[in-house]
Amino acid sequence: MLEGIDLQSLLEDYFYAEARALAITRLETSASLGIIDVEGPPTNDETDIVLGYLISRLVLAAADNQALVNYVALSEALRAERFLSSETDEDLVNIVNNLGIISVEFRNDIFNLNFIDYVKAASKLREGNWKLANRGVSEGIVSLERPVLIRLMREVIRQHLEELPEAPTEIKDQFEGTLDDLKSKISKTFTERIGGLNHVVNERQAEAMKELGRFDLAKAPPCFNLNLIDLQAGVNLPHPSRFFITTFLSSLNQDSESVMRLFATAPDFKESFTRYQVEHISGKTSGTQYSAPKCDTLVSTGVCPGPNTLCRLIKHPLSYYRVMAESEKSSTVRTERILLATLNKEEYPSKLLEENTEKIGKFDFSYPSNVAERKASAAINENECSKIKAKINYFRGNVYSVDLPNEERKAWITKASFNLKEGNNEFECIPLTDWKLALSIEEAFRKSKDIDLIVKPYEINFGDNDVRKLFLAVDLVEAS
Ligand code: SF4
Repeated sequence: MLEGIDLQSLLEDYFYAEARALAITRLETSASLGIIDVEGPPTNDETDIVLGYLISRLVLAAADNQALVNYVALSEALRAERFLSSETDEDLVNIVNNLGIISVEFRNDIFNLNFIDYVKAASKLREGNWKLANRGVSEGIVSLERPVLIRLMREVIRQHLEELPEAPTEIKDQFEGTLDDLKSKISKTFTERIGGLNHVVNERQAEAMKELGRFDLAKAPPCFNLNLIDLQAGVNLPHPSRFFITTFLSSLNQDSESVMRLFATAPDFKESFTRYQVEHISGKTSGTQYSAPKCDTLVSTGVCPGPNTLCRLIKHPLSYYRVMAESEKSSTVRTERILLATLNKEEYPSKLLEENTEKIGKFDFSYPSNVAERKASAAINENECSKIKAKINYFRGNVYSVDLPNEERKAWITKASFNLKEGNNEFECIPLTDWKLALSIEEAFRKSKDIDLIVKPYEINFGDNDVRKLFLAVDLVEAS
């Protein structure tokens, strides 16, 4: 169907307008309703539907939004499951084997597959009957009845599409140019639509989160966010993930009713079972409030999707949440902690702190909307905020601690040290204690991307006649 079609025509030609519209319907209905509301022939032309599917994958890749990918993957998988149910046994085997992910054999009214394929396919369906031990394995083969195979295929397709698989070579060869070129062409054509899709996803997540009073999703670690996305996308979360979500939220003072309502927004919610689990884990019925597992445990049970830079500095997901709350501290406490992180002394530098705060007052993180754009080399000589574009030349996160005077405790500060580069000039920066900002800066460093920042210079006295001007990163300017 794609023969002779180039990307430009697919994206712009009037002839493919219907296919483009179907692509967007596919994505929009997946994101908002969890279904693919695209009618087959004769309402829609078959070629348009197939091309629409291809365009939807391109838009999805350009949108770069994992939650959207997960919603769409589940909707596509549910649609495929419906079609598979209407196939004959022989055709079902052919389709499953043609997908090339697992391979099945049909004999005596039963579908057989290798236990390795089964474990791979059912890895996220770990409860009850899905466990290998409850399925029965004979000589390395697992035997499934037709409805079970079809349900398993929903899972196989969902997982496959969640990884945004590459197109087959024949299709890839059709489109010239690097992946980045392709992505930017698609992003340009569908800018508004992608914005709209991201908005629908945010709304859907916000709907689920509004059950949770003072809980702030922006402070949650990747393990919580990704499991929540899975939950929302209808993944049957394995027990360790449910246990983690429940204990994590209970530790942050969310009551079991709120946690229940969060689980209730998932498509295959079973009230009595979930209520039993949540109330038991949160201590309402068991009398024991279980604590949230440490990172080590979450890694070994497969709940952790892989650490980000902040994760590498902490050992517990609750510490992650606490570090991310740094910007909520009072400005006096914040200023003291930033200065401690900047001065980096082995002993509490009472005198230097006093001298610096006398000169600086408090670090000010507010700035006017019409902040002037400047080169970093000019901004360093101003007394106000500037918007600059720069590269991050160096970034390192670490934990600094110092004994507090007259107290039997230490101040623990998780800080991000970094500096900026503009041409050949490097600019030292005040370490960040706000990791919401630090994570974006680290990403720009990792990807060697330019970053737009609001900065303000401050003169810091490090003692021993060492006085230097450093930039304070006040905020990140989001790309419009
Ligand atoms: S390292 Fe810890 S906090 Fe980070 S994602 Fe993994 S489990 Fe969560």
